[in-house]
Amino acid sequence: MSTAPMDDTVRNLTSIRQRINEACRVAGRDPSGVRLVAVTKTFPVEAIRAAFDAGQRVFGESRLQEAMPKIDALSNDISWHFIGRVQRNKLRKILAAFDVVHGMDSLGLAQAADRMASELGLSPQIFLQVNLGGEETKGGFAPDELMDLMPALRELARLDIRGLMAIPPPAESEEQARRMFAALRTLRDRLQAAHSIDLPDLSMGMSDDFEAAIHEGATHVRVGSAIFGNRTFSTPPARA
Ligand SMILES: *Cc1c(COP(=O)(O)O)cnc(C)c1O
Repeated sequence: MSTAPMDDTVRNLTSIRQRINEACRVAGRDPSGVRLVAVTKTFPVEAIRAAFDAGQRVFGESRLQEAMPKIDALSNDISWHFIGRVQRNKLRKILAAFDVVHGMDSLGLAQAADRMASELGLSPQIFLQVNLGGEETKGGFAPDELMDLMPALRELARLDIRGLMAIPPPAESEEQARRMFAALRTLRDRLQAAHSIDLPDLSMGMSDDFEAAIHEGATHVRVGSAIFGNRTFSTPPARA
């Protein structure tokens, strides 16, 4: 295991927070407008507790089965974000356990979530995932598709649709990363203008590129390995 020892976790967390603040300063943004989602998939409860004790309250997990025991073991004073691929047959449990769902990627799934949220008495925060690179292996709405579906999506009154989320393909340069993030922001701006809706949030940026994402307007950065160490096996963001 190459999981960082707990004092490394706290040190890494402090360093990431400083880098977020510095990126905000350079971009002329208020750091309170950027939320750090600490991604704990594959990492144990002890690592989450160390981050919690250091003040972190927002955590992200990508698989329901893995997340449930961690959620049950930890304080209620945590905002849990589901960042993985949402499977229809796990949707109800995801909505019951998580405050925010980052990977809503089809109209049918969103309609089902709206129905279930109503039954559960919830109004979950939702990010619509966009497949910016047109990658077949990743979920997400195509940008044009989302433009067409927005009127139907905004009818879903139980969903608090906060904005857009993307996992762009790995970039070869900071400039290329920024172009992808700027494309998500531009799409958000076009959707807002065309459908007169408010989409205040952009979930984009991970360990390798969160600063570029902040420069382009990210409100939620999802950072895992830079805080908790390298994962010993990869979890593609493809399964819930
Ligand atoms: C794993 C994961 C992250 C965090 O990735 P790191 O490179 O470890 O920071 C962010 N977003 C999603 C959707 C993920 O699956």
